[in-house]
Amino acid sequence: MIEKLTDIKGIGPKKAQQLEKLGIMSPEDLLYYYPRRYIDFTVITPLKEARNHECGAFCACIVKHPSLIRAKGYQIVNCKVDDGTGTAQIVWFNQLYILQLFREGDTVFFFGTPEIQGRTIKFNSPKTYKKDPVIIPVYPSKSGIKQSFIISAVREVMNSCGDDIRETLSQRIIQKYNLMSYHDALFTMHFPQSVEDLQAAKRRIAFEDMLLFRVAVNVIRLNRQKKAGIQFDTKGILSAYKKRLPFELTDGQKSVISDIESDMSAAHAMNRLIQGDVGSGKTAVAMYAMAVAAKNGYQSALLAPTEILAQQHYKTLCNTFNPDTVLLLTGSMTAKQKRIARADIAEGKVLFVIGTHALLQGSVEFSNLGLIICDEQQRFGVEQRAALTEKGNTADVIVMTATPIPRTLALCLYGDMDVSQIHGMPAGRQKVKTRIVPESKRADMYKYLENEAKEGRQAYVVCPQIENEEGIVMNENVTDVYDELKSTLDVSIGLLHGKMKPAEKEKAIADFRTGDIRILVSTTVVEVGVDVPSAVNMVIEKADSFGLSQLHQLRGRIGRGKEAGYCFLVTTKADNERLKALCETTDGFEIAEKDLALRGPGQFLGTEQHGESELYALSLACDMETLESAKEAADELFVAEDEMTEQIVARAMKRFDKGISDT
Ligand code: ADP
Ligand code: MG
Repeated sequence: MIEKLTDIKGIGPKKAQQLEKLGIMSPEDLLYYYPRRYIDFTVITPLKEARNHECGAFCACIVKHPSLIRAKGYQIVNCKVDDGTGTAQIVWFNQLYILQLFREGDTVFFFGTPEIQGRTIKFNSPKTYKKDPVIIPVYPSKSGIKQSFIISAVREVMNSCGDDIRETLSQRIIQKYNLMSYHDALFTMHFPQSVEDLQAAKRRIAFEDMLLFRVAVNVIRLNRQKKAGIQFDTKGILSAYKKRLPFELTDGQKSVISDIESDMSAAHAMNRLIQGDVGSGKTAVAMYAMAVAAKNGYQSALLAPTEILAQQHYKTLCNTFNPDTVLLLTGSMTAKQKRIARADIAEGKVLFVIGTHALLQGSVEFSNLGLIICDEQQRFGVEQRAALTEKGNTADVIVMTATPIPRTLALCLYGDMDVSQIHGMPAGRQKVKTRIVPESKRADMYKYLENEAKEGRQAYVVCPQIENEEGIVMNENVTDVYDELKSTLDVSIGLLHGKMKPAEKEKAIADFRTGDIRILVSTTVVEVGVDVPSAVNMVIEKADSFGLSQLHQLRGRIGRGKEAGYCFLVTTKADNERLKALCETTDGFEIAEKDLALRGPGQFLGTEQHGESELYALSLACDMETLESAKEAADELFVAEDEMTEQIVARAMKRFDKGISDT
C-alpha cells in the first residue's frame, strides 16, 4: 500500500491538502471514501418519456454543431439534440470545451434535469460524456474539488495497491452469507461495471459495517455488564419534582419515569433508550432523572446535537432548577468561558451540565458524574456514547430519540439497551393537518402564510439541501426561496442554514422566537428539537425528496402551542402515495414502519452530513435482510469458532470506539 498521498501520481502537496479537507489523510482513506451516489447510464430515458424536473440519463445525437452565445458575462454553448423519440435543447454555461468535443452527428451521453415547457425540453449544463459512461460515481465533495480529480486519485490508489487489499472476514462467513470478496467490493464501489455488481458490493460493504458496529456494541455491553452502577435513592423525589413543573405529567411520561426510577434505584447501571414522538415531552422525563442524580449529590450531563437545542435545554433547566447549579458548555463559547465552565464542572460547583460535542472533549472532567443523557440520539454514534460513558465510570445512561425507529431496526442498532416508549401527547395538543400543495397553488399558499403571519401565526419554510453534480451541498435553494419571499411578502422574513455563523444562527432563532421574524426560511437544521410555540404553519419545499420519518419530524416543530398547525408539502411529482400516507396519520411509529417498507433502512442511519456518519456505508443502500444477517454473524462471532474473530474485534474497536482509547 502506498503510504503518503503525495506518492500518488498527479497528487502534489497542494492537492493532498485539498484531499485532507475532505478528511482523506492517506491513500487508504481514499479507498474507503465511498461515492455518495451513482449516475446510472445503463438505464437511458428516451426524450419522449422525460418528465419535468426529474433528472435522468439521456443519450442523443447532435443535430447541428454547437454554437456559442455571449450574454451577461456568460459564454453559453447551445445545441439541439435528437434521440429518435424527441428533441431537446442543451445549454452549457462557461464550458467552452464542449465546442471542441462535439460535432454534428456525434452521440452525446448526458445526465441532467429536464425543464419542460409546452413541447420544448431544455437541459441546463447537464453532465456530459462522449463515450458510453456506464455507471459514474458521485463523491461527496467541497467547493474547489472536482469529481474527476477524486476519481483519478482513487484509480491511482486502486491500481497501485489493489493486491494489498486483504480479505477481512473468514471464508466461513463469506460463504454462509454469500458475500462478494472484500477486494472486489471495494473495487466495484468505485468502478462499478453493472448495477448487479454494484448491488453486491454495497451489500458486502454494508454487511461489513453492520458487523463491525454490532461487534463494538457487543463488546461495550460486555464491558458495561462488568461495571457496578450507582444505587440512587429515589424516595420522595418524584412528588417534589412534579411541583416544579408548570403542567401535569402525561400517563406516558409517568410510565417512563417509573422505568427510570427502578433503573436508577437498582444496583446495575441504567442503559435505556427512550423513544418518544416529537412533542411527547421527553425533556420533562430527562429532567426527572437529573433531579434524582442531583438529590443524590451527583452531576448529570445532558448532551444535545446542536447548539440551538443546547441553549433551549439550558433555559428549560434554569427555569426548573436553581440556575446557579445549571451550566452550559458549547463549542461557540470563547476559550476563556470554556475554561471557567470546565473548572466549575471539575470542582463540582454545578450539578446540571448541558452541552454539545464540546462536552465530549478529553479536557472536560466531571467531579462526580452520575447520569448521562443524550438527546436526539440518532445524531450520536456509539463512539460518542462510549466517550461520554468513560467520563462517568459507573454513570447511568439515557438516550432519547424522536425518530421512531422500527422495531426490527432498533434491535440491530440498540441491542445493548432497554427501550421505553412515551405513548400519547400532552393534553390540548393540536394535531398538525398536512396537505399536499402542487406548484400551481404556490401563490395562494404564500398569501395564506402572509395573512397568518400578520396575525402572529408564524411559519417555517423548510428547503432540502441540494447537491450539485460535483457532489457539493449548495445553499442556493434556501437563499433563493428566502429572496423570493422577501420580495413578495409584506412580513419580516428570516434565514437559517448550516453554513451561517453560530451567532447568526442564534440570532435568527431568537428573533423568530420573539416574533421579530415572522417567517423563517431554513434548511433542515430546524429538524431537531427546536421548540417555538407560536410557529403554527410549515411549508416543506420539494417534499418528495425527504423520507417520511424526516417529514414527520419536521412537522413536529409546529402545532406546539394552542393553535392547530398546517403543514404544506410542496411537490411537483404527480404520484404522491408516500406523501398521502403522511397526510393520513400522525403516529410516528406507523410512519416509520411505512418508511422502512418503502425506502429501506438507509435513511434511519445516515445524517445529512453524509460521509461523516459512522454508518455511512450502511445508509448507502441496504436492506433489512443484510442488516439482520450481519447482526447474526456478529453475535455468532462471540460463540462460534472463527479464525478471524480477534482481528474483527480489533477492527471494530478501532473503528467505533475511538473515544475510549483517546481518553
Ligand atoms: P420532545 O419530546 O419533542 O423533546 P419537549 O420536551 O420539547 O418535547 O416538550 C414539548 C413541549 O411540551 C414543551 O414546550 C414542554 O414544556 C411541553 N410539555 C411537556 N410535557 C408536558 C405535559 N405533560 N403537559 C403539557 N405540556 C407539556
Ligand atoms: Mg426534545
